[in-house]
Amino acid sequence: MKNHGLGDWIHRRRVRSRGQTALISAAGEQTYDQLARRIDKLANALADRGIRPGDRVAYLGENSAAFLETLFATGSIGAVFVPLNTRLAPPEVQFALQDSGARVLVTSTPLAPLAAPACRDTAVELVLAVAEGAAAPEESAVFPVTTEEFEAVLTSGAEQRLDVAVGLEDLAVILYTSGTTGSPKGAMLTHGNLTWNAINVLTDFDLSSKDVALMIAPLFHVAALGQGALPVLLKGGRIILEQRFEPGRVLALIEEHHVTNLSGVPTTFQLICEHPQWEHTDISSLRNLTCGGSAVPLRVLDAYESRGLAFTMGYGMTETSPGATTLPPAHSRPKQGSGGLAHFHTDVRVVDPMDQPCAVGEVGEIQVHGPNVIAEYWNRPEATASSFVREDDGLWLKTGDMGYFDEDGFLFISDRLKDMIISGGENIYPAQVEQQIAALEAVAAVAVIGVEDAHWGEVPRAVIVVREGHELTEEQVLHHLDGKLARYKIPKSVVFVESMPRTASGKIRKPDLRRQYA
Ligand code: ATP
Ligand code: MG
Repeated sequence: MKNHGLGDWIHRRRVRSRGQTALISAAGEQTYDQLARRIDKLANALADRGIRPGDRVAYLGENSAAFLETLFATGSIGAVFVPLNTRLAPPEVQFALQDSGARVLVTSTPLAPLAAPACRDTAVELVLAVAEGAAAPEESAVFPVTTEEFEAVLTSGAEQRLDVAVGLEDLAVILYTSGTTGSPKGAMLTHGNLTWNAINVLTDFDLSSKDVALMIAPLFHVAALGQGALPVLLKGGRIILEQRFEPGRVLALIEEHHVTNLSGVPTTFQLICEHPQWEHTDISSLRNLTCGGSAVPLRVLDAYESRGLAFTMGYGMTETSPGATTLPPAHSRPKQGSGGLAHFHTDVRVVDPMDQPCAVGEVGEIQVHGPNVIAEYWNRPEATASSFVREDDGLWLKTGDMGYFDEDGFLFISDRLKDMIISGGENIYPAQVEQQIAALEAVAAVAVIGVEDAHWGEVPRAVIVVREGHELTEEQVLHHLDGKLARYKIPKSVVFVESMPRTASGKIRKPDLRRQYA
């Protein structure tokens, strides 16, 4: 029997990359050989405890070797890995455990106060605790189910390799979407989806086995896992796992380990280049800077360009494992703000409400097709039915994002369909208005929502959090927008609030805002 899934990657690597370092983490350095042995032991230990193909194993923890060991061990026995966001609230973790039906939860000891209550009324029968510093006594929590130490369990496992058949079409990971537009959905990522995404990255990003990737974003995010870590391990490169983002430490690590790859969101890169050590650090090893989520501001592009570095931008989502499009460094300036071109083995189209292709420059829904795109949501037949279009060439994912292609075939993302405001028959994409308002120094956060209007149907309203120590009035905001945007796009009112409702991944929850302020 053959394992063609992720679970066998490190084994196939160990022969080819003998003696090479795979991981550097708080637990020290591990070669591909050492990592493969630990994966085998953990796989045996999980199998000894009754975990069978298809069973779900959840992971709630920060970046650590145990995260990747659990992912690969789970894959090697045909079980399913369910990574959870550590910033979720207990009921949200409980929902994911209940929904996925996980039998095992691997979690770090400092997270016990979050994990213990979340285990109640779930199918979790075993908790494996990864020791990461000692939990403070007042924080210690008692799990309602059997708890064993991760390291002891792993060490107890036999070393022989288990012979389980796993195919590319088998389920590898259930990853919950951020829940920005509603409740999170479990995207069913197969071994094939994640493998093809890694191949897309290797094809489009020019990675090599010499690469050293510093992982500062949490691995439970699909971008860090699918786009950042997995392709590097497939290629035989090296990964450095950090638990927290601290710009000064990032600079020190780049110099010490000759880091080549760094990925993050625009703020990550901005904080690094604004750090006092930026000028004094040798960053000449850097080759691949990947930025996702939104466009890199020009002044950040400038700071890196002055040191010979350009960014690769990306657009994607949980359902596409996660890469849909990518903007190569050569185009980062001329096509600033674009999500780029579809990944090599993936197709992207922009369509009207009848699923017919839109003309160049015309905004429509972005749909994605390819071997990295999921076919199903876990336990959600209605969401599955409404999220895909079946064509002769297979399924196309309806992303719910609106955008257009320019004359050179580059994709520009306008906003989410659910956030679009229709005012007097004109479409308003709040993201465009938000970008203009965010340029004001006094603005810490902004969201534009639609409110009902007897005359226009809907009109835009800006909800703003003012930066500490700054002042801002409605008049100043409206004056700033005057002449920059069409009249109908300018908010008819401004509400100042203390803070924004956000998802665990930091995105603004617009449905909550609309409920409160529309
Ligand atoms: P949910 O699907 O539960 O509402 P979510 O869509 O926020 O949550 P994710 O899969 O984490 O969950 O996020 C993907 C979304 O993030 C995309 O559909 C898109 O709206 C947005 N996005 C990703 N990359 C970009 C980008 N480069 N520019 C603009 N938006 C982006
Ligand atoms: Mg989504």
